[in-house]
Amino acid sequence: MPSIRRLSDQLISQIAAGEVVERPASVLKELLENSLDAGARAIDVQLAEGGVKLIRIADDGCGIGRDDLPLALERHATSKIATLDDLEHVATLGFRGEALAAIGSVARLSITSRPADAHHAWRIDTHHREPAPAALNGGTVIEVADLYYNTPARRKFLKSEQTEYAHCDEVFRRIALARPDAAFQLRHNGAARQRLGVTDLAERIAALLGQEFAAQARRLEADAGPLRLYGLAALPAYSRATRDSQYFFVNGRFVRDKLVQHAVREAYRDILHGARHPAFVLFLELDPTGVDVNVHPAKTEVRFRDARAVHQFIYHALVRSLATPGTATPTAQPEAPPPAPGPVSAPMPAQQQLAVEQPTAAYFDFVRSPAFRPSVARSTGGGSRSAYLAEPARPPSADPAGTPPLGFAIAQLHGVYVLAQNAQGLVLVDMHAAHERILYERLKSVLDGQPATQALLIPAVLRLSAREMATAQEHAEVLAHLGFETDLAGMSELAVRSVPALLARADVGELLRALLAELEHYPASEVVTARRNALLATMACHGAVRASRALTVPEMNALLRDMEATERADQCNHGRPTWVPLTMNELDALFMRGQ
Ligand code: ADP
Ligand code: MG
Repeated sequence: MPSIRRLSDQLISQIAAGEVVERPASVLKELLENSLDAGARAIDVQLAEGGVKLIRIADDGCGIGRDDLPLALERHATSKIATLDDLEHVATLGFRGEALAAIGSVARLSITSRPADAHHAWRIDTHHREPAPAALNGGTVIEVADLYYNTPARRKFLKSEQTEYAHCDEVFRRIALARPDAAFQLRHNGAARQRLGVTDLAERIAALLGQEFAAQARRLEADAGPLRLYGLAALPAYSRATRDSQYFFVNGRFVRDKLVQHAVREAYRDILHGARHPAFVLFLELDPTGVDVNVHPAKTEVRFRDARAVHQFIYHALVRSLATPGTATPTAQPEAPPPAPGPVSAPMPAQQQLAVEQPTAAYFDFVRSPAFRPSVARSTGGGSRSAYLAEPARPPSADPAGTPPLGFAIAQLHGVYVLAQNAQGLVLVDMHAAHERILYERLKSVLDGQPATQALLIPAVLRLSAREMATAQEHAEVLAHLGFETDLAGMSELAVRSVPALLARADVGELLRALLAELEHYPASEVVTARRNALLATMACHGAVRASRALTVPEMNALLRDMEATERADQCNHGRPTWVPLTMNELDALFMRGQ
């Protein structure tokens, strides 16, 4: 074995570059972060050939003095921290003092800089490490050319120009999202790609992610002691097939963190279909001592001191904001573009004006009476009788003047949609999806306590396959927890003695088979906690009123009132919207009225 020797500085930096300089986009990230750390308010980026040929970044930051220039290129040289205590309180994006050295070891790097108090600029590059006079009005210009020119093995890993550019664009986007207070420009091969002026967060988000995202997102702002979360979280109607619209920042730094991802996924789980991904731009702020950003050189991972608290906080803040019924709706509301992040909740649409004809007090008593608990309204032979049918009117309730946000039913369309008139215009309700959502939330709150069950006078006996029987046996306890009391009634028959009270009218056989099909895939230990909501969703779907069933006007109104009273009623649990408003303005526009 050869003797041990020290590696050269150049080689050490090239090894480090393996972690820091994965591709042009990682160079761009380091340079953008340096500019922001230097206090820049205007940053201009030029790329050539996906950033492989050239990355040039000009900023108006504090600049680097002549004597500091050689140090900027040295490993472990930084102006940002000096002590361990500084490290724990670090508020800058950089602090490791290795990016420029690493970049300079695998590309041709030059720095031209002029602090405000300098008579002229100075320039340094990887071949001339002695500063030379140069011309520049102020700030810093850094050029990185021919990435990996001296490390051909790494160059082979680079992808096509378009791919490398796309990565650069994404890095640019992340940083620009976090800093609406700075202006940015991006050019590629001479063509302007982005031009962003100083603005507020909502406008920056709209500029980078599109008006559609901004219009379909909930504004969110939550505080809990030292934790603060704000930003925009899109409603399920704007969900994506990929994770491409997920931006989470911790103290201004874009991160991809497992804990955060988990908390967000959980928060969306009830309202988003499993194959869809939520879209969001969220900023978590906390004391720097509460989070370790020095986990990986690229700093996209973090470690929270109190991981559980952070998880809980993110989860609850999101659930609360997504659950507020009626604030954002599936159609854009141009009159109310979201300004900078504000409070979580907004008023229900129709509480503002009462343009709809005053309903009689008796009518209100009718639809608000407790008899309107919708249990299951399936049409199995029941004719027009259903759970929605009212019982005799009750004494007047508190709010005779309030016009309900979802208005009053006027008709049912093809047995699928309920049409209602509210103060703003027309409301279209997908009756199955809406009922499903209501049932789901009710099942959930009921099952949080002792499940309310209803004994069947005559037990339903189901013929099941061997596999279904095995699952029923294995999960008998889970079924009991959900409100199904079952007994084996033979080799291939299962007797059902009770069902959840809310689903008393559902087709027991169909419901149970659907549940068993789902349970089959889960180990028993997981079911009650982790899978419970999925099971409830199945139950709600089977319990909900089917399309093509005729509803009476009072039934439809009862459904509307239940929707208003149910959290998250504007999305069904597959992430589809349950209702869509069409304002008079939108309707007028269809007919080109007033134009
Ligand atoms: P770090 O950012 O971790 O300190 P870098 O290698 O990225 O390490 O940068 C080294 C030093 O060079 C920084 O600490 C900073 O003082 C200086 N520097 C780099 N870029 C700029 C810039 N655009 N404007 C002013 N100073 C800069
Ligand atoms: Mg840096």
